[in-house]
Formats: sequence, C-alpha cells, structure tokens
Amino acid sequence: MSRSALLIGQGLAGTILGWELLRRGWQVHLIDHHHQGSSSLVAGGLWNPISFRTHGLTWRATELLEAMENCYPALARELGQAIYHPLPLLRVLSSAEEANRWDERMTDPALRPFLADSAVPPQGIHAPFGVGEVKHAGWVDVPALLTGMRDLWLEAGILAHENFDESALQTGADGVHYRGLRADVAIWCSGWQVAGSRAFSWLPVVPNKGEILTFRTTRFSSESILNFGQFILPLGGGRYRAGATWKLGAADDRPTEQARQYLLGRLQQVMMSEEPEVIGQASGFRPTVPDRRPLLGSHPHQPRWHSFNGFGSRGVMLVPAMAVHYADVLEEKASLHPEVNLERYRTRLDP
Ligand SMILES: Cc1cc2nc3c(=O)[nH]c(=O)nc-3n(C[C@H](O)[C@H](O)[C@H](O)COP(=O)(O)OP(=O)(O)OC[C@H]3O[C@@H](n4cnc5c(N)ncnc54)[C@H](O)[C@@H]3O)c2cc1C
Repeated sequence: MSRSALLIGQGLAGTILGWELLRRGWQVHLIDHHHQGSSSLVAGGLWNPISFRTHGLTWRATELLEAMENCYPALARELGQAIYHPLPLLRVLSSAEEANRWDERMTDPALRPFLADSAVPPQGIHAPFGVGEVKHAGWVDVPALLTGMRDLWLEAGILAHENFDESALQTGADGVHYRGLRADVAIWCSGWQVAGSRAFSWLPVVPNKGEILTFRTTRFSSESILNFGQFILPLGGGRYRAGATWKLGAADDRPTEQARQYLLGRLQQVMMSEEPEVIGQASGFRPTVPDRRPLLGSHPHQPRWHSFNGFGSRGVMLVPAMAVHYADVLEEKASLHPEVNLERYRTRLDP
C-alpha cells in the first residue's frame, strides 16, 4: 500500500487529491510552476447537477454532491475563508418547447429533489418563457482555495514552486526519486499541460479554450446564478462573472477581443440593458476528454506513475469524489471504476 506521493500540479485536482491524501496520513509533496497556465485560476467555479442538454441529472450527480459537501466546507474551515457558496441556479428558458420539457421534468421523481416548484425571473432579465430553478447548485471560489492552500503548504515546506523536470525523475524498485526526494508514487495532476508530458502525452486530453468576463452593473440584480446557455454569477457588491466561451484548437491562452464582444452581445440579449462595465477578462484551457470522463489510473508500463486528470469543464463537481475514489484505489481499498480508468485509451499507447 502506497503511503507517500509526489504530486505534479497544484490546480484544483492536485490541491484536493493532496488534501485527501494528507488527511489519510500520507506524506505528500507537490510541485507547481506558479500556477502557470492553470485552468483552475480562471474557472467560473460553478457546479450544477442538471444537464440542460438532456434535462436530466449529470453523471453520478448525487454521489458527486455528497463528496463536495464533505470537502469544500471542511477546506473553508481550514482556510478560515468563505470559498463555498451554495446558490440557486435559474435557467432562463429559451422557448415554449423548453418550458414544456421543464414542466415534464418536474414530475420525474429522480429530478424532484433538484427542481423548485416555481421560480420568478430577477428584475431586468429578459425571460419571455420564464425561468426554472435548480436547487443544490452554487459556486466555489477556486482561486481563493488554491492560493490559500498554496500558502499553507509553502509554509509547511511540502510545496515547491518550480517547473517539474521529467528527465530528473528516476523510478526504481523502492519508489520514485526526484532531486533528493523519494515517494512511492508520482501523480500527474497537471491539467491540460499533461499533453506536453513524456509520461502521459498519449492520453487524449484536449485543451479547450474558455474565456470569462467580470463586470459591474446597477441595471440588474440577482442573488441567483443565471444560465441562458452562458452563465452569470453574482459575486456581491454589484459585480458579476459571465462566461464562458468554448474553442478547440486555439493557438494561445490569451484573452481575445472576439470573445469579449461575443459575451457582451449575449449579456445584452438577456439583460435588456446597456453594455455593462467590464472590469476583468480571463482565459484558459479546460482539460477535456472526448468521452467526457476523467482519466485516472497508473501508467500501463510504469505502475508508480499515475494520472489524476481530465476533469474537463466540471472539475468543481468531479474532483472531490474522484479524489476520495482514487485515494481508496491507491490504498487498495477499491478497484478503479472502469468509466474513469485510463486503460480505455490504452491502444493510443500500445496500438
Ligand atoms: C474559462 C473557464 C471556465 C471554467 N468554468 C468552470 C466552472 O464554472 N465550473 C467547473 O467545474 N469547471 C470550470 N472550468 C474547468 C476547470 O477549470 C477545470 O475542470 C479544473 O480547474 C481543472 O483542474 P486541474 O487541476 O486538472 O488543472 P489546472 O487547473 O490547469 O492545474 C494544473 C496545474 O499543474 C501545474 N503544472 C502543469 N504542468 C506542470 C509542470 N511541468 N511543472 C509544474 N507544474 C505544472 C499548472 O501550473 C497548474 O497549476 C472552467 C475552465 C475555464 C478555462
């Protein structure tokens, strides 16, 4: 049974897996190059158990929500910061057809606990077909979580701010060795950047660029999250975050004027007001996977190398449950769930 781990990456994945292993008594060391290219630092931080494509529950929603409840509030207490914000989410219904489907779903016993009986659009929102309210949604202040844990771990001497040099990693019968450090396993939690690693470049982690805006307005006010294909998240003090765009194959992760104009156009459609005052724009890459499932497991040729990756656009909801599951797998208390096992892409390594 492994008891010490070297984690490469302190994004949402590395932070929560590291925290889970530490509380199980593991020795953990993390390496992160100053959150360079981090997807977590620009994430909207939203979670939502309902898919608006199928109007059903998202994959393993109940289990994932339970794991979130055991994770984020405990982390918030540890940090002494309000990072966990359960909030209702209002879906702005786009057509009479969608409104009918919503009504049908409200009679589904599996969805009843997640949908409110009725909901009223916030003032200043254009919603001719009404809104539907999702319960058990919300957002996590991911940057505050990451920087808070970073500071604690830097002080504890278990996090190093440096680029992980794969050529300096040696793997032997007694574990992995990296610049004077020994651990039982090395776990890549490096998000979309895993595509540039030597160990796991064969995994189909596809960088999907997303951009978000932060804006201020007095023309509209909402204490709920709004979803109209895009989201608007209330941050307090008249500030909101809106996003996000999607783009495969983008050349770089810098914010663009095109995405800013697109998001402003979408905001104006739903807010019925003048252009809001933009006070920030951020962009990054989501670590997406073609079948939309995480990529967990040990390297087929090197059992001490592991991947904890592929959280796509839903890291906030997925990572806590997957961290518990993967820690159980490492401790040989569970076998890896086939749906998330990286073995499903093995032929990309061994055709
Ligand atoms: C615009 C946008 C909006 C999003 N909104 C949401 C949302 O509302 N809800 C949601 O659930 N998800 C959202 N996501 C997705 C979410 O950000 C990801 O699912 C999640 O953050 C992935 O976390 P990660 O730790 O796997 O990767 P990352 O956050 O990218 O972390 C990887 C870390 O590894 C480090 N690293 C990589 N390579 C090396 C190396 N060689 N040496 C040292 N360090 C290294 C990086 O510096 C980084 O800190 C959004 C993403 C984007 C881009």
